[in-house]
Amino acid sequence: MKDWLVEIRRRIHMHPELGFEEVETSKFVSEWLEKFGLQVKRGWANTGVVGLLQGRGSGKTVAIRADMDALPLDEVNPVPYASKIKGKMHACGHDAHVAILLGVAKFFMPMKDQVRGNIKWIFQPAEEGGGGGRIMVEEGVLENPNVDAIFGAHVFPFLPYGKVGVYEREGLAATDRFTIKMIGKGGHAASPHVTKDPILATGHLITQIHSIVSRNINPLESGVITVGKVIGGTAFNIIPDEVELLGTVRSLNPQVREELKSKLEQVVQGVARSFGMNYQFDFEYGYPVLINDLKMTELVISACSKGIGKENVEVVKPSMGGEDFAYYLEKVPGSFFRLGCRNEEKGIIHPYHSSLFDIDEEVLPFGVEMFVRIIDQYLGLNIA
Ligand SMILES: [Zn+2]
Ligand SMILES: [Zn+2]
Repeated sequence: MKDWLVEIRRRIHMHPELGFEEVETSKFVSEWLEKFGLQVKRGWANTGVVGLLQGRGSGKTVAIRADMDALPLDEVNPVPYASKIKGKMHACGHDAHVAILLGVAKFFMPMKDQVRGNIKWIFQPAEEGGGGGRIMVEEGVLENPNVDAIFGAHVFPFLPYGKVGVYEREGLAATDRFTIKMIGKGGHAASPHVTKDPILATGHLITQIHSIVSRNINPLESGVITVGKVIGGTAFNIIPDEVELLGTVRSLNPQVREELKSKLEQVVQGVARSFGMNYQFDFEYGYPVLINDLKMTELVISACSKGIGKENVEVVKPSMGGEDFAYYLEKVPGSFFRLGCRNEEKGIIHPYHSSLFDIDEEVLPFGVEMFVRIIDQYLGLNIA
């Protein structure tokens, strides 16, 4: 199947589309699913597609999911299949996820009669911040038939090709964001005494923000607060009226999440008061923590080990990145795992979201095999 998978992946790679705009990708996916004889429903969360294989007799329903969106950056890889669209690139490997799931559909096509239970293919839009997964869950993608378990994978540039990484429980962080405004009183740079300088206050604030995790969170828990953007001022001799800060808060459990939020506001309030100025604090909840079901993770370990040996399945540490697969896992048990796609010899070493990101395409048939083995074991088909 490898040549076919490479062709599929490259075609999607050359035509990247951003979140909720995956019109062509979605059409392409639906056409293949229809060709494979699956029941296809389009229009989920705008561009999402769902395929269903209804097996013989009654049994469980297992779902697998791929994300379809690309990122807003220019590809600089000197490869013949580089992005043809300026400013857009599949720099997170979602092209590979789509190809792998289509490969699983192609695999099951000639053996539909051997499937007991149902297999559902979920192709979602907008994983990169848009929360396409949340919308599909709200629209009922886990119903009709009800999904008993769900599995998803992400290519992983930190593990070599041929290896699978699993998260026992927590896999990815809750990803919240904040906007803070320090509202002072502007004036001449030479007369600070008649102003309230929000730049000085922001300097103190940033330092204090960085003590929140280190002095408030149990060292055995995880948390990150990053101030990623500071906007303020117009000229060297003007004290501005206000300064804005944007940042992100990451955590792996709900208590830490709430604690970070309330400490952050407390610090903003304290610093603003100490400088006699006002503030605005906006906190926006993003993706929840991705939590795998331990039993489903054990199933992934066992099913993948059958194909590649226990030594090639590694338990990996959680990442403070985020993943909207978390929304599916809030509703049904399942497991999200990693497919190594790094190959130092081929120079495939760049991280996600880099303009040089690429995958070792051997991961495509490899990924198909892993999903087939997981489905096989979950539904008890004994075909793998
Ligand atoms: Zn990404
Ligand atoms: Zn991704």
